[in-house]
Amino acid sequence: MALARGLRYTKRIRFIGAESVMETYKMYIDGEFVDAENGDRNDSINPFNGEAIASIPRGGAADVNKAVAAARKAFDHGPWPRMTGEERSELIGKAAALLKERMKDYAKLESLDSGGTINKTGADAFLASRQLAFFGEQAKRFNEEAEPIDGMMREGRSFNYTIREPMGVCAQIIPWNFPYMMAIWKLGPALATGNTVVLKPASDTPVMALELARVFDEVGFPPGVVNIISGPGGVIGEALTTHPDVDKVAFTGSTEVGREIMAKAAGTLKKVTLECGGKGANIVLDDADLDIAIDGSIWASYYHQGQVCESGTRLMLDANGHDDFVEQMVEKLNAMTMGDPLDPATQLGPVVSQAQMKSVLEYIEIGKNEGALLACGGGQATGGDLDKGAFVQPTLFTGVNNQMRIAREEIFGPVLGVLKYDSVDDAIEMANDSIFGLSAGVWSSDIDKAKNVASRLRSGTIWINEWHMLSERSPFGGYKQSGVGREFGDEGLHEYTEMKTLYVDDAKTRDNKPWYDMVVARPKSDA
Ligand code: NAP
Ligand code: MG
Repeated sequence: MALARGLRYTKRIRFIGAESVMETYKMYIDGEFVDAENGDRNDSINPFNGEAIASIPRGGAADVNKAVAAARKAFDHGPWPRMTGEERSELIGKAAALLKERMKDYAKLESLDSGGTINKTGADAFLASRQLAFFGEQAKRFNEEAEPIDGMMREGRSFNYTIREPMGVCAQIIPWNFPYMMAIWKLGPALATGNTVVLKPASDTPVMALELARVFDEVGFPPGVVNIISGPGGVIGEALTTHPDVDKVAFTGSTEVGREIMAKAAGTLKKVTLECGGKGANIVLDDADLDIAIDGSIWASYYHQGQVCESGTRLMLDANGHDDFVEQMVEKLNAMTMGDPLDPATQLGPVVSQAQMKSVLEYIEIGKNEGALLACGGGQATGGDLDKGAFVQPTLFTGVNNQMRIAREEIFGPVLGVLKYDSVDDAIEMANDSIFGLSAGVWSSDIDKAKNVASRLRSGTIWINEWHMLSERSPFGGYKQSGVGREFGDEGLHEYTEMKTLYVDDAKTRDNKPWYDMVVARPKSDA
């Protein structure tokens, strides 16, 4: 059986030097690799050179219906939710082991699909395998634990406890900035807790999710537990979020689409978790170590070309140190190496697509028109290798105020705005004056002072003298319009469970039931 499964696809991505052989992917529904019902396909494009790297089915509502029916059947009648946690753990662990074995191939594939530098995608591929292994371990804890309810149990009267159960069929929609890791962040906790899933990757970066379907198939997941479908977000999203057989929607992407999903899910009162946008305030206090804070702010803002929801995209500098900080930062930004994402020397790759480049360049124009001053960058990066790709110069604006669109909206490119502050109170006020609340950071050599600032910031994650550090062990998510719910930690697992309360009556006679008098007339002499 395992062999037959392994042989169902024989073509694996082959690398000839840095080139890949164009691969044709299928969707994965009910344990079968299938084309879209309508037969449509799109190419996935490498944003470094505009070349097609893979052919991808362009699914629609008919495919959603098939995938949801498969996930429903697998949940209602299949073995997956009924297995012990240990059994689920073993299968998830096998998948994680394959991810580890194929780490290098997957990193390259992800670079080709998304434009992420090989250093970034290498780290992602390492973390993705570790995270799936972690979720595999967590599977052992679920479905079996009965938690007694303190203060409610009464010996001889009642036995009361709660139990966590899987939610059911989970629809999962993910973005293009961390295509591989986002798939694992979604699949890992859902599977660990016994759910079945229908996952849809972003149309710009579908490859790794479809590659993962092969892994789950290869290790022998029961049909219908994992379904991976590709196609346009509007069409597939609408069908998933309104489908009566979907119990939960988990989404990572823009706040705009998050709002739409929540509204559509309301029709059937689905559970939702949303990881949406951010506009992270990066506050440098006047006592910060300059070398660390300057390099750290570049890391906070320009990592993966700024296409990270929890980036520090509003840099807040004390008026006194402002000019010196900016001058040193500009020098470093101008020295950054742009180029082929597969070259380990490359620090900045292309943004994810020509369309994203256009959108980022438009925001640069908006910033200029709003009166912000260009300290460096400001346009498309060209010359040599860069000409065919979607490259944007690392761009720094000074003279930004918190009312400008470039300070209020997500840009999702290598564009950072500096806001000057006169007092720490001003900085905190500006930081919190945003519809977003995903992340923030404080740089200071006085940890207590930094912690005090952190305590006043309305954000889900705050770094002190660091940025981008996330762990599968600690909850991640947004305050305000940055999201609903959490991923990672116990909280993240709980988002995929329903809580069942059990009240077991232990009384041996009916006359000490609290309702006895209401139902049974006592003999007069008793009264
Ligand atoms: P997006 O347009 O919101 O797309 C995200 C996903 O939603 C894609 O799979 C997309 O499919 C799908 N989608 C599009 N329209 C939909 C609809 N009407 N209903 C349901 N699904 C729909 O965002 P993006 O441009 O891909 O990604 C960038 C955004 O994601 C940024 O705003 C960033 O802040 C956010 N983000 C947040 C986190 C976080 O953890 N909080 C992490 C990463 C990114 P198509 O690709 O087919 O359009
Ligand atoms: Mg692509």
